[in-house]
Amino acid sequence: MSDHRIPLAGVIGSPVAHSKSPVLHGHWLKRYGIDGYYIPMDVAQDDLAEVIRTLPLMGFVGVNVTIPHKETVLDLADIVTDRAALIGAANTLIFRKDGKIHADNTDGYGFIENLRHGAPGWDPLAGPAAVIGAGGACRAVVASLLEVGVKEIRLSNRTRNRADILKREFGARVKVFDWVKAGNMMEGAATVVNTTSLGMMGKPEFRVPLDALSPKAVVTDLVYAPLDTAFLVKAREKGCVTVDGLGMLLHQAVPGFERWFGERPEVDDDLRNAVLAG
Ligand code: NAP
Repeated sequence: MSDHRIPLAGVIGSPVAHSKSPVLHGHWLKRYGIDGYYIPMDVAQDDLAEVIRTLPLMGFVGVNVTIPHKETVLDLADIVTDRAALIGAANTLIFRKDGKIHADNTDGYGFIENLRHGAPGWDPLAGPAAVIGAGGACRAVVASLLEVGVKEIRLSNRTRNRADILKREFGARVKVFDWVKAGNMMEGAATVVNTTSLGMMGKPEFRVPLDALSPKAVVTDLVYAPLDTAFLVKAREKGCVTVDGLGMLLHQAVPGFERWFGERPEVDDDLRNAVLAG
């Protein structure tokens, strides 16, 4: 094996053709003049363990993991970060030089960094957070809001049981509201987040009423196709500062790129434009 292997990384999922990660990481590799590659890999569930064992032998320094493998990879890793364990899923694997596989979840980091950059005056401790949904992405959002110290997280999901499960896992700071009261829980909230797929291209509209939404709230949507969702448009009409979901995708990629390629990359307009065009 040569000492000067070209570092390889990529994203594993199925399907994976729609993933924006190859354009995102490709942009940074070019920008920082790094002699490396990032590729999409469509891997079936049955082949996952073998693929992950083999990749480091071929020069892979790590991979991103997406649906449907985010939970399964936890069992294949040697080291799981606390946040990945808490969320119950990993999106970033690092293949260490000592042969160990390190699994992390950077979605919550991306979520918080997106709000910090997109709404510079945002104070997550100024009041409760109201979070709509209880799916996979919601777990990362709730974990990260708890981590930054939010005292109360109000949660509402169409299937109430999924929200109750999150409350059981994340504890007393999470308060569950019935789906019909999803609008009411926004009253006095400093942060309001849509973590459902409602409002996404090809999905049903987001119809939760915003009458109780305060103009002081910072509002964000995890949906980024379209970029400016109807939920964000209506929140801005009420006077709120809004932050679109694309920044979360961009920021969650920073820790992985840094660990794999040794350069902390910047999230800027050039990157946004490259990903939107790609
Ligand atoms: P998921 O695990 O499948 O969860 C989907 C969520 O949407 C659940 O809460 C589900 O409620 C709700 N939902 C779906 N259809 C609904 C409907 N007709 N009425 C009410 N609620 C409905 O998906 P996910 O992985 O969490 O992703 C959710 C969204 O976040 C997707 O649009 C995804 O693209 C986006 N996302 C963005 C980023 C980013 O970086 N910006 C990262 C991750 C995900 P039930 O439990 O009742 O089904």
